[in-house]
Amino acid sequence: MIRQSAFTKENKMLKGGLHCHTTRSDGKCTPEETLILHKENGYDFLALTDHRKYNYAHYAPETGITLIPGMEIDGTFDRENGFRTYHTVCIGSDGNSNGFSQDEEFICKDVKSDVDFQKYLNAVVAKNNLIFYCHPEWSGTPARYFENLKGYFAMEIWNSGCVIENDMDKNAPYWDEMLGNGHKLWGVAVDDGHQKHHHCKGWVMVNAENNVDSILDALKNGSFYSSTGPVIDDFYIEDGKAYVKASEECSKIWFCADKHPSKQFCDVSESSFDMNDDWTYIRAVVMDKDGNRAWTNPIFLK
Ligand SMILES: [Zn+2]
Ligand SMILES: [Zn+2]
Repeated sequence: MIRQSAFTKENKMLKGGLHCHTTRSDGKCTPEETLILHKENGYDFLALTDHRKYNYAHYAPETGITLIPGMEIDGTFDRENGFRTYHTVCIGSDGNSNGFSQDEEFICKDVKSDVDFQKYLNAVVAKNNLIFYCHPEWSGTPARYFENLKGYFAMEIWNSGCVIENDMDKNAPYWDEMLGNGHKLWGVAVDDGHQKHHHCKGWVMVNAENNVDSILDALKNGSFYSSTGPVIDDFYIEDGKAYVKASEECSKIWFCADKHPSKQFCDVSESSFDMNDDWTYIRAVVMDKDGNRAWTNPIFLK
């Protein structure tokens, strides 16, 4: 049996937010309001990832939420064939191993190509930060535009701000494009909350102890799933079949693999799917009765 590592039941699953903005940059809520709002919505951890300015500070320690240090950076440029932008969230340890200081600015200057942006990604990763690629649909960068950038542990597959403001919920298909091209990337659902009504809509559920380094390790290892509502209890492969189990009856469950159309099941809480030997990965999605989705990370087969 191969069980996806989110579902080993070693730890209580932690609910977390990996991408949001506050009045430290262009968000509408203060850092304190943002932390309190997430506490009220059952979050165990949160990263305040304001634009180009690193944050360690816990603005509401009384909430008990674990604060993940971080920021969002971007490389934006004009090219002869058009405007392009790459956005990336950076999250790091709260110990001495993280090379940023509170409110340290990080501006990617003179980015004229993905090669130029890579230098900045390398600098962030060299300081022991994890990075994930943001909102490819909003940025107009399907896989062919960012797949040569290196160092990402994950990419966004759902972004509340982009869904609410721009009707854009097609990041997950870009994920399959990346996976099908051989990139081993995890998928994260985030809010990218700028306004209050963007917050607490998309999150990760992480199989980790409740401290920064354990959470970062679990994220890096893919020991989590993403959700906008549904709870997934298990995802594994046994005897040539993939199995997924949700906590309650779903309107739809479907499986995505390379070289195969997705397979859908309706009005079930669990389902299974016959596997082919030549697939390189398989992942599952569940949708509740209100249309909210949750996504397992892939099990890689090669
Ligand atoms: Zn962004
Ligand atoms: Zn953002």
